[in-house]
Formats: sequence, C-alpha cells, structure tokens
Amino acid sequence: MQPGMNWAYKTTPQSQLNSREIDYSRGKGLGGSSAINFAVWTLGPKHDYDEWARQVGDPAFNWPNTRRRFDDIENINLKVDQKYQKYFQPLAGDHGNRGRVHVECPPIWEKGMTEVADAAEEFGFPINKDINSGDPIGIGLFPSTSKGGIRNTAADAFLSDPPANLKIQINSPVHRISFEGTHAVGVEVEGNRHYTAIKEIILCAGALDSPKLLKLSGIGPRSELTQHHLPCISDLPGVGANLQDHLYAPLTLHLKPGLDDRPALFSSPTALANARTAFRTSRSGPLAHMLHTSLIYSLRHSDLSSDAAFQQLPASTQQHVLAPTVPHFEMSSQSPPLIPLPQDRSYFTVLVFFFHPQSRGSVTLASADPTAAPVCDGRFLTEEFDRVMVVRGVGAAMEFVRSPRVAERCDGVVQVPRGESEEEILEYVRENCGTSWHMTGTARMEVKGSGGQEDKMGVVDTGFRVKGVQGLRVADMSVMPFVPNCHTQAVAYQIGAIAAEKLCAEYGLN
Ligand SMILES: Cc1cc2nc3c(=O)[nH]c(=O)nc-3n(C[C@H](O)[C@H](O)[C@H](O)COP(=O)(O)OP(=O)(O)OC[C@H]3O[C@@H](n4cnc5c(N)ncnc54)[C@H](O)[C@@H]3O)c2cc1C
Repeated sequence: MQPGMNWAYKTTPQSQLNSREIDYSRGKGLGGSSAINFAVWTLGPKHDYDEWARQVGDPAFNWPNTRRRFDDIENINLKVDQKYQKYFQPLAGDHGNRGRVHVECPPIWEKGMTEVADAAEEFGFPINKDINSGDPIGIGLFPSTSKGGIRNTAADAFLSDPPANLKIQINSPVHRISFEGTHAVGVEVEGNRHYTAIKEIILCAGALDSPKLLKLSGIGPRSELTQHHLPCISDLPGVGANLQDHLYAPLTLHLKPGLDDRPALFSSPTALANARTAFRTSRSGPLAHMLHTSLIYSLRHSDLSSDAAFQQLPASTQQHVLAPTVPHFEMSSQSPPLIPLPQDRSYFTVLVFFFHPQSRGSVTLASADPTAAPVCDGRFLTEEFDRVMVVRGVGAAMEFVRSPRVAERCDGVVQVPRGESEEEILEYVRENCGTSWHMTGTARMEVKGSGGQEDKMGVVDTGFRVKGVQGLRVADMSVMPFVPNCHTQAVAYQIGAIAAEKLCAEYGLN
C-alpha cells in the first residue's frame, strides 16, 4: 500500500491482546478508506437496519428505506456463468443497476473456490445465492466494489465528474472548525488557510478523525478539552466514546500442491510481471480472476441464548442478536494468508470475524496539536461476551477445517490454536487477531430511551446535526450507534445517502 494513502494509525497497547498495538489503518486519499480497503461489498442483515431505526426512533434508517437507497447507490453486474449459478444468483429485483458504485463478481472463479463451497455445503452450511438480499445467512460469494477487475472507490463513483458547484481541495488537512459563538462558520486548514461556510459544514473524516476534529474544535467531554487547554463550546461526553470494531482471527493451513494456481504466479517474478502486463493491457491473464473475491460464511451459533454471557446482555441487545437474519460470526476462505509466508507453497486460510462486540473503546486527543494522531483504544475483548464469541467462532472454524472434505485438501497446519480448550483458543486470538477496520460509533446518533429521557452520550440527532451547536453535521461511520454485522463500506455509503436525502428535503433541493 502506498504510504501516502494511509494515515497508518495504531491502537494503544491492548490489555486483552497481550499488550499488542493493533494496525488501525485509515484511507488518506480522495475516497477515504474505500481506496485502501479489500473492496468486499456486504449490505448486512435487514434486522440491523430495523434495529438502527428502532434505536434512534426514525424510520429513515429501516430496511425498506435503506434498501430503496441502495438501489440508487449500487450498480451491480449480475452476469454469472451458468456453472457458478448454484453459488451466486442474486435476483435483479433485489439490487440496483443505476447507482454509481460498481459491484461485480469475477467472470472466472479462482481454482478451488467451488470445491470448497461444495465442501462447506456438505458440512452443513446452506448455500446463499445472494448474501446481499437483506438475509446474509449461509455461504456465498463476496461481490466486490470493482468494474472489470479494477477497484471502484468512492472517489471514482462520486467525484470523477463533479458537479460545477463542487470544488475539491486535495492535500488540505482540516485542523479545526471555527465558530462564532455556537455557530460553525468555517474550517481552518493546514497552511493557515481558512474557508467560510455559506450554510453549513458537514464533517466526514471517519470514526477516528471526526471525533478528533470535533474535540480540537471545542466539542467533546469538557474535562478532556480542559486538559488540553481547548475551549468548550458544547460539552458532549459521547464524542470519541463508544468506539466499536470487529476483531478477526486467521487460521492458516498448507494446501496440497496443485489445488490452487497461486504458487506458480507469486513465486515467479517473470510470471507475475507477465500477468501484470496482460492485465494492464487487455484485462486478461491470471490477475483478471485471482484474489478477486473469496467465500463468505455468515453463520449463527445455534445455542447462544443458553450462554450465561448472552443472558447478561440487555434484553433489546439479546433480541437483536437473535433476529433471524443477523449473523453471530463470519468466516471467509480463499483469501491469501495475512502473514508473510513462502510464496512457493499453497495455503488454505480461514478468517473468522467476531460480530456483536460489547467492548467499548475510545478516541481521545494526544494533544491540542492537529497533526498529532488520535489515541485509539479499542478495549478489545474487555467484555466477557466478546471472549465467548471468540471461543465459539474459532471453535466452529476449527471444526470446519477438520471436516473430511476440507481436511483432505490440506497438508498440515501453519498457524492455528495449539488446542481446542477455551484457554488455548483465547490465547491464540489474543496473540494473532487483528481488526477489520470497521471503526464505528464515536459520534453516535442519539438513542431513544424507553422513558424518552435524553441520551447523554448522543452526539448527533437523526438529521446528523451536532448537539449544542448550529451549522455543523457529521455524516460518516462515527454516527452509527452500533457496528453493523457486516463489512462496513456499504453502510458508510448508506449514511451519505441518508444525510443527502435529509438535506435535500430540508433545503427544498431536487
Ligand atoms: C484496510 C481496510 C480494509 C477494509 N476492508 C473493507 C472491505 O473489504 N469491505 C468493507 O465493506 N469495508 C472495509 N473497510 C471499512 C470501510 O472502508 C470503512 O468502513 C469506510 O470506508 C468508512 O467510511 P467513512 O466515510 O466513515 O471513513 P473513511 O472512508 O475513512 O473516510 C474518511 C476521510 O476523511 C479524511 N480525513 C481524515 N481526517 C481529515 C482531516 N483532518 N482533514 C481532511 N480530511 C480528513 C480521510 O483522509 C478520509 O479520506 C476497510 C477499511 C480499511 C482501512
């Protein structure tokens, strides 16, 4: 990855992860993290959107409304060879084909993909021909945000032909929002540049930098602002609180020789150079289909509700976790190993993603210097429920890789837990997990309590307006009250679409 494309943050040493600092990459270029992500396209379960609408008390966030907006966001290519239709065949009526975000599956699937899908089906995972219908449960194929194998970023989708009244200023890090009283009036940008707002400012710096910028501008917990000698314009304790993310853990085994084509390509500089030329000049060759997609398994634990840690969750969380379309964990296979390994061997990697994290982290200021990185503390696995989900998720993945049809493809282990006990699995995850970079919730939308009381940790209202000030909104993953049970870029696009719809309605725009 080009260093100029990544803010390259790290978390603080994580107490439950053997004091490791975890990579907390964030996209830096135009298009944000969509320019450096893995391009996986998942909308998530319909019950997540309904839960979001319930929590904030606004039907704009429910599944029928978000589904309608995805039709305008997505431009899906549904063409798929007949031999793959058993695994991938979304219905045209469930998808958009007029949006700007191109979504596709590769025309040729990498060697081994369908064999592993068949092994998973035999193991008992149902095939889901469309994991993006609102019900992701089962095993299917990850579509990707690409067109003809080329990544389609948010900048490609929305900024390649900007309207005449949009001026894009690159290489311009914002240092703070300026206020007159409690009214946001402009932004101060690196190099002593100032821009004045005619109407409003919409902050979209992502779940790590939006809270940082709010705090630098005098919006956040008074005690923290005072500590850094910053003025307090709006005392909002929720700014930088409530950080949520998905951890994942990899299991890596040796694949028997000949079951994939990767070693021939990646261990030969000549073959790789030729493949790059073929792809660049005619979109052909092995790179047209290799590493383009992977299998996704969205799964549920059948007996989760009998677990003591589950029973400790608030009743509304329990209800959401048990909603029928909501996965409890996700596995993905056919991705490359995420650790450096000799390129002349084949590997079978299963990534296990843990959903419904209950641990809550924070983003705080290192100092009042706008160029200082934010202090990101995920507090991962500090809640018992999260540790239970890790043990259950990795346990289920280990069972799958030991199943006869998967085991017969493998040839010894590379990186797996030492044993199957809870302690061994947990220790393995503490030492080897990473995050999925799904940071969420650090300027969360006000949640409506049953008694109608104010949500003291709420930062924005359902119109994305920052509480206690005028002329300032936040529209990025910071505002989502909980991390959705999917990969988050589609939700980030949805947040942009909801905010746009609300602004158009307010300002009477077409
Ligand atoms: C390595 C990686 C892999 C991922 N893989 C996937 C995946 O495969 N599928 C998926 O669905 N999701 C994935 N995600 C997550 C997904 O990309 C994010 O959820 C999504 O991009 C968040 O959108 P956002 O608008 O909230 O923030 P971002 O996309 O991070 O955008 C924030 C923007 O604000 C800019 N910014 C920050 N501070 C300032 C400042 N002071 N001044 C001016 N600009 C500033 C940043 O440079 C960036 O351009 C991945 C993320 C990463 C980092």
